[in-house]
Amino acid sequence: MSEDSAQFPPVDPVKTGIKGCCPRCGNGQLFDGVLGLKPRCAACGLDYSFADAGDGPAVFVILIVGFIIIGSVLWLQVNYAPPIWVHILLFAPLTIILSLLALRWAKGILIAMQYRHNAREGRLSD
Ligand SMILES: [Zn+2]
Repeated sequence: MSEDSAQFPPVDPVKTGIKGCCPRCGNGQLFDGVLGLKPRCAACGLDYSFADAGDGPAVFVILIVGFIIIGSVLWLQVNYAPPIWVHILLFAPLTIILSLLALRWAKGILIAMQYRHNAREGRLSD
C-alpha cells in the first residue's frame, strides 16, 4: 500500500463509500448493479478481489433501519392509531427502500475502510 499512497493520495472512505467509488483513486465505480462489485476499477485498475465486507453491512443496516422503522411504527400507532393496512402500505416499501440504500452505502464504506486499513482475513504464519 505504500507505493499506492505515493501515486494515489488517500481518499475519504465515507465519501467514496457513499458515492460507490473506487477506494484507491475515488473516481472509478465500485458497484456493478445495486450491490454487486465490478471485477476492477476502470479508472486506476485496482483489483476488487480483496473486497469482502461479509455480513458487516447487513448488521449495521438491520440495527439502524430497524431502529428508524420500529420507532416510526410505534410513534404512528401511539399518536394516530391507524388500521393495520396503513402500517403495511407505509412501512413495507419504506423498509425495503431504506434497507437497499443503506446496504449499498454501508458496503461501500466498509470496503473503502478495508482497503484503507489493509484489513484481510487472518493467516497463520509459516
Ligand atoms: Zn480506482
